[in-house]
Amino acid sequence: MRAVRVERVGGPEVLTVRDVEEPQPGPGEAVVDVSCSGVNFTDVYSRTGLYPNALPFTPGSEGAGTVSAVGSGVTDVRVGDRVGWVMVPGSYAEQAVVPADRLIPLSDAIDDETAAGALLQGLTAHYLVRTTYPVRSGDDVLVHAAAGGMGLLLTQLVKHLGGRVIGTASTPEKADLARKAGADVVVGYDDVPAAVREFTDGRGVAVAYDGVGASTFEATLASLRPRGYFVSYGNASGPVPPFAPLRLSQAGSVFLTRPTLAHYVAERAELLQRAEELFGWLRDGTLTVRITGRYPLEDAARAHADIEGRRTTGKLILVP
Ligand code: NDP
Repeated sequence: MRAVRVERVGGPEVLTVRDVEEPQPGPGEAVVDVSCSGVNFTDVYSRTGLYPNALPFTPGSEGAGTVSAVGSGVTDVRVGDRVGWVMVPGSYAEQAVVPADRLIPLSDAIDDETAAGALLQGLTAHYLVRTTYPVRSGDDVLVHAAAGGMGLLLTQLVKHLGGRVIGTASTPEKADLARKAGADVVVGYDDVPAAVREFTDGRGVAVAYDGVGASTFEATLASLRPRGYFVSYGNASGPVPPFAPLRLSQAGSVFLTRPTLAHYVAERAELLQRAEELFGWLRDGTLTVRITGRYPLEDAARAHADIEGRRTTGKLILVP
């Protein structure tokens, strides 16, 4: 079968398609024929080595498809089931081996493309607004990169929960998209704290969702209300450098957390419960996933160059 392989870490060019042996399921595992694989910034970090992996490896952290084989002891799924999965490496391929207890059954109401386009970022947006900081009606919320894959989902969910969104975006076209997703105000990155003060009558935001990382850290810290929540959930511009905890006190006794999806879906029951609510939002139109790019496996490098080069909005998928 064909799979994208990373044999050395580096730029997008290290993503190459190879013919590899068809995978066999071990005990507790299933083999899935992949119909779509989501492209995520997380995959960029794996490719560059920021998030280390043993070489060589097949990247890709989410997908959807049909179970084609199961190993011994598998009871959660059967051959022929349509499924999706997240936080299991290896989805940039025609087939993937996934622990059966990580597979999420898909109903007819959710097509494979929607599942592969929505699961990783949708479950992340779910835990960020429901659990990391439960957004309440009337909360003012800062969403960085509001036209990106995560940003569009966060914006829609904060509005659904009754919050007000001030978003950031680097171009007028992206700002327009974020506004269409519900953002009340969208600004550039030049003076975010001043824009936030104006938006909040000087109070600062209750929570800031910052997946941009290094380049926005200072502005985000200066945008929080006293005892506000700084949710640093990504590093699109590079990882945040070390800093002194005393600064959290000086910024208004604010809370800082650096969460990752794996710890919010570690138990199967929690994974399925979050997925169920996410699918409900997709079905009833609360949440729309904008799939803006479909690439064959051979163009994985182009997909990575596009997302890293800030040329994308919404969600990209690979179709093997
Ligand atoms: P996006 O589609 O949001 O792409 C990243 C966006 O970040 C760009 O479009 C760009 O928007 C903005 N950006 C700002 N500065 C830079 C820069 N220097 N280089 C590149 N992009 C920049 O990606 P995703 O939705 O896949 O991911 C967004 C973030 O969420 C990532 O940091 C990712 O790691 C994180 N994430 C974290 C998870 C977790 O559980 N912790 C899970 C899933 C994602 P603009 O041009 O408008 O500034």
